[in-house]
Amino acid sequence: MTYALANVDGRAALVADDHWYDLEAVSLGELGSDPMAALADPDRLAALTAELGDREPSGQLDAVQLGPPVPRPRNVYAIGLNYQAHADEGGMEVPANPLVFTKFPSCLVGPTADVELRSDAVDYEGELVVVIGRSGKDIEPADAWDHVVGLMVGQDVSDRAVQFAASPPHFDLGKSFDTFGPIGPVMVSPESVDRDHLRIVTEVNGEVRQDETTDQMIFDVPTLVSYLSRVTTLATGDLIFTGTPDGIGITQGKVLADGDVITTRIDGIGTLTNRCVRATDHQVC
Ligand code: ZN
Repeated sequence: MTYALANVDGRAALVADDHWYDLEAVSLGELGSDPMAALADPDRLAALTAELGDREPSGQLDAVQLGPPVPRPRNVYAIGLNYQAHADEGGMEVPANPLVFTKFPSCLVGPTADVELRSDAVDYEGELVVVIGRSGKDIEPADAWDHVVGLMVGQDVSDRAVQFAASPPHFDLGKSFDTFGPIGPVMVSPESVDRDHLRIVTEVNGEVRQDETTDQMIFDVPTLVSYLSRVTTLATGDLIFTGTPDGIGITQGKVLADGDVITTRIDGIGTLTNRCVRATDHQVC
């Protein structure tokens, strides 16, 4: 079951071979234009994708600026210290259970949006992002993938000054500035990639900073879905940022600066390209 879903001008679109197809048009009005509504029917997305060869594309993918494929999730969960080498570089103990925080959904932006820096301690964290399809509570790990409608690339942009301005640190605030959640470029079905072994690479101005495979996660996707679902009902469209590999900027003295370009790539999903823009005179702390 394969499909790739994008957000073109706020409308859901299927993607194939460098083209996009407006979902409402290609479904002959059966499905609406809302990208959030599209997540509820992966079987239909797959069936329509199989027929795209007979359809006229709505346009070229490189001719449009894409929005976040999942623009309005109810909740955005994120996992800290989920790769051993990343825990090591920060001098942190690996947690015995997943370390969970949230990113405010209002921080989400599209795959080519600018990232606004409000301090000189803003950092990048390339991550695999999981999109919940069928809602669920108390999901067993063995059933977890049945509740995942798609995978995306994500940047968990983090203002370390604000993150560590309090003790214990407030992760949520430091990682939820407007523009601190680029996602995309498309959402692909888990079946269309090697879902347990995805290579994730983050570059800044062309210099490789992070290069790891997701099979190095301490808590894998089924474990994270199951764990969260024992606390809260996971809803269609909820996102899980699954944690970042080692190579973050703060431990190397390489935080983000005005004009830097972050590229975040996962093979089989795509690339985010985000330019950093320093907002002056808005220091939080
Ligand atoms: Zn992160």
